[in-house]
Amino acid sequence: MILKERTKSITHRVLESLNFRMNLPVEEQLKYENQVKGWAGEKQFDFYMSQFHQSGLVLNDLVLNYRDTVFQIDSLFIVNDSIYLYEVKNYTGSYFYKEDSFFTESGYQILNPLRQIDRSVTYLQNVLLRLGYRFPIHPMVVFINPEFTLYSILPNKHFLFSSQVPKHLSALSNQNFLIKQEQLDLAHKLKELHNEDYRPDNLPIYQLGQLKKGILCPICFSLSHTDTRQNYLCTACKHKEIITTAIERSIKEFKLLFPDNLMTTSQIYEWCGKNYSKERIRIILKKNYQSHLSRHMTYYSEKSPSKVPLFDKIP
Ligand SMILES: [Zn+2]
Repeated sequence: MILKERTKSITHRVLESLNFRMNLPVEEQLKYENQVKGWAGEKQFDFYMSQFHQSGLVLNDLVLNYRDTVFQIDSLFIVNDSIYLYEVKNYTGSYFYKEDSFFTESGYQILNPLRQIDRSVTYLQNVLLRLGYRFPIHPMVVFINPEFTLYSILPNKHFLFSSQVPKHLSALSNQNFLIKQEQLDLAHKLKELHNEDYRPDNLPIYQLGQLKKGILCPICFSLSHTDTRQNYLCTACKHKEIITTAIERSIKEFKLLFPDNLMTTSQIYEWCGKNYSKERIRIILKKNYQSHLSRHMTYYSEKSPSKVPLFDKIP
């Protein structure tokens, strides 16, 4: 049973939006490309998991806190009285593994993903203890890309290569395991602890004035569109969307990029490329957000989260 679907991280969504609204510096551009590659790998892992999740409980993309530390888990699978933690790596090319270190073909050392997952195991164990649970945790680093080769003298039971993933998941799900109430309770508690609004402190620096305005297509990210009275129609990929939904989506994107700005009708009018009347925007803001009056200015803040997904339609 999938209890928490995967959503793109805040870093991914911020970089995605900026990438189509400004010229990203090379370093940020590389970070964005890594996010896209990582996301594709995780979706591939989800595809395998979708065939085997019935016998356990799956939580994807969990961001948890232990004391002052934030840690992230790509996939957590509670099955057969155990917890499996998966760190998914979409590496391509040849790597060498020796003396607990990873090296590229040209000899550069990269971070060992096992250390990353060991850290998550330690913190998760403490979180479980605090909640009153004791389950064995099995960490697994999944190299999801078939174009990845690891040269290593000894096999490592914590490494899972793309061709082994279906067999591994199938073995876990073939144990006629019934989901117990205790496990369901734990999974719900972990889901509640998920820190949805976590903003890492290494996000790029940008200002509203630098960004191209207008509504991005959620499929191809083009800013060019033609509209009928009710519908937004992307000129590039022909994606069609109700204008109200497109504006709501764009407001969410604005809030993602500028969480501290006081959101006003004029600001959103400009953000949406001045294509829609202030009256239309005011109605949408009033419907979805709490209005406040401050020094003759009305601004809007979160009421209840809007149901419109932000770019999550992308395969
Ligand atoms: Zn499009």
